[in-house]
Amino acid sequence: MAPESIVDHRARGALEFCWGNGERYLATYQLLRANCPCADCKVLRAAGGDGDAGDVQLADIQPVGAYGVQFVFSDGHDRGIFPWGFLKELLEERARPAIPV
Ligand SMILES: [Zn+2]
Repeated sequence: MAPESIVDHRARGALEFCWGNGERYLATYQLLRANCPCADCKVLRAAGGDGDAGDVQLADIQPVGAYGVQFVFSDGHDRGIFPWGFLKELLEERARPAIPV
């Protein structure tokens, strides 16, 4: 299921994802980049890449229909399409719950 909103906290280098049920997560750009689900990155990680994305920035966010979202990273990588289900699991496992304000 798609989040209700995605807020770009550029100063913190993180995206905040808010779902309609009140769940919120703060995910750093690095976390997203390091877990890019595209075929190239999967191969790299399977080959023992440590998933260290360095201080990558987020250049753009593109919606991919109802399916998910595509992140364009400052290192030029733009093939990472994150289906909502994958993104939610990643956030639940690896991201920090964001404190509602
Ligand atoms: Zn990738």
